[in-house]
Amino acid sequence: MSKQEEPKTPSIFQMAKNFSKELAKYIKEGAPNVSNSVYIERLEACNTCPHLIKKQMRCGLCGCMLEHKAKWKTTTCPDKPERWKPVFMDKATLELKKNFDEEQEKEERIKNVKRKKELAENQKRINAHLKRGNLTLKEMSNPIKMKKIYGQLKSNGANKKNNNTKTGK
Ligand code: SF4
Repeated sequence: MSKQEEPKTPSIFQMAKNFSKELAKYIKEGAPNVSNSVYIERLEACNTCPHLIKKQMRCGLCGCMLEHKAKWKTTTCPDKPERWKPVFMDKATLELKKNFDEEQEKEERIKNVKRKKELAENQKRINAHLKRGNLTLKEMSNPIKMKKIYGQLKSNGANKKNNNTKTGK
């Protein structure tokens, strides 16, 4: 295609068919639009696309006007590969995503409970060694404090060993 030559639109019949299909989908889903930043991203992609009919601001592949094509959340770029990513998810996909998110959240919750349990067990063990009952979970998540405490534990252990050696235990 030469520089001046603009792409041709599909036939009027095909354009009407494409547009009514897009419109039906858009209305069925409650007329959702993309955010301004996505709209701009799409327009930028269309602007550098060889299928764009600039005079009419129409997509040369489907014949749809860009003001609708790029703004409606339910539309897709008809080029292969697509020049912009679709953002719309139909109800079945949304349901799958919801289930997946819930599953992820559940796993995260289980991990957190496990982590807290381990932390509490460590806390109990450290407190028993240090003979102090006031090591809080907050203290345990402070690396500087914990370094100090581990140092203390180490020296307690060394002292105990020395005493045992002296007393012949
Ligand atoms: S919708 Fe896709 S094919 Fe059509 S003009 Fe935009 S980028 Fe090009």
